[in-house]
Order: sequence, then C-alpha cells, then structure tokens
Amino acid sequence: MWDDDPIPCDKCGTPHARCTAHTRRGAHCGQPRMAGQRVCRLHGGKSPQALAGAERRQGEERARRALGSFGAPAGVSRTPGRC
Ligand SMILES: [Zn+2]
Ligand SMILES: [Zn+2]
Repeated sequence: MWDDDPIPCDKCGTPHARCTAHTRRGAHCGQPRMAGQRVCRLHGGKSPQALAGAERRQGEERARRALGSFGAPAGVSRTPGRC
C-alpha cells in the first residue's frame, strides 16, 4: 500500500508514485522508492535512520499481522534457565 501510494510533493504539489525527490533540474527523480520509504536509495533512502525507520515500520506491520492471525503469542516469555 505504502510503496505504490502517490505521495503529495512539498516542492511541486504533484503526487509522486515513486521517489518524491527531484533532480537538480527540478524534474521528478522517478526512481523506485525503497521499501517503506518515500525516497529512493540515492535520495536518502539508504541513510541509517531512514533504514531503521523503514525496518521498524515493517516490523510493526508484521507483528500486527501475526497478532491478528494467531492472537497473543503464547510461551514467548520463557524464563531463562539460569543455574
Ligand atoms: Zn515534486
Ligand atoms: Zn530519488
């Protein structure tokens, strides 16, 4: 859903279905966005905080889906066997 949703652009006011950044000439970048992000790898999608944010979003999405289908995970909180 997020990956193909056109995102309204702050610069030109036009929704962009791909990377929302622009080239130096002012044209749309047009590169495919990185997963869970609004820009391509050339426009900051590869920066550590961007990757962390995307991973967190995807993790939350996955967790939500897992909870929806299985309910609360049982037996996850095992006590560590410490001597
Ligand atoms: Zn734009
Ligand atoms: Zn780009």
